[in-house]
Amino acid sequence: MSANEYYWIDPVYSDRFYGDGNESYSHREHSRCPITREHLEGSRRVGRLNLHMQHNDRSQWIIWSVAGMVIHQDILEEFEKERFTGYRTEPATVQFKDGVISQEYQEFIVTGWAGIARPESGVKVRQDCPACHWKSYTGIKNTEQLVAWSQWTGEDFFMVWPLPLYIFVTERVADWFKAKKSRRYIVRGPEDRGHLAKTTGFTVGLLSNFMPVDLAVKYGRPLGLE
Ligand SMILES: [Zn+2]
Repeated sequence: MSANEYYWIDPVYSDRFYGDGNESYSHREHSRCPITREHLEGSRRVGRLNLHMQHNDRSQWIIWSVAGMVIHQDILEEFEKERFTGYRTEPATVQFKDGVISQEYQEFIVTGWAGIARPESGVKVRQDCPACHWKSYTGIKNTEQLVAWSQWTGEDFFMVWPLPLYIFVTERVADWFKAKKSRRYIVRGPEDRGHLAKTTGFTVGLLSNFMPVDLAVKYGRPLGLE
């Protein structure tokens, strides 16, 4: 497994194939900043992810939504056979247009970790709050230097801070997703890094808004991100 290349999976937005997760999204715990109303320390969704679809296509195995993503259990079995690492699943429901509710999907949560982006990438704290975990970071200038491989847990799906919404993956996972040939995502690799360089910066709060609390404590506490 190459530790020198990183890939990421970009969702392809589609009115039809995106799950409506607005109701799930609205069930949130907000962490307010103790000294200002100008920013939040962030918020996290609580409760089960329930998605509503505008179609009856049961063959859709990956479903994105504003509130989170789900993957069909048959595909999760393939992930297990491939021994992919760096994720957890939680129960979810998907309701199709005809009203049928499927329990065959699980929420997919990335739990691998590669720490904070290397400062050599250009990602540095631009502004931070003295009273909470709100931080603004500068954008990426040198995309080759983004991942601090020394901080990487070695897992196939992983998060790089402060880009918690990007699903970073190893080459073997990228190859698997490419071979699956779905129109619901684009596998990004070294040739696509220019997309990352267009970012002007990142604003984030608590790591635990994006990662299960036990792992946010484990990985974030030493870095002051928890
Ligand atoms: Zn604050």
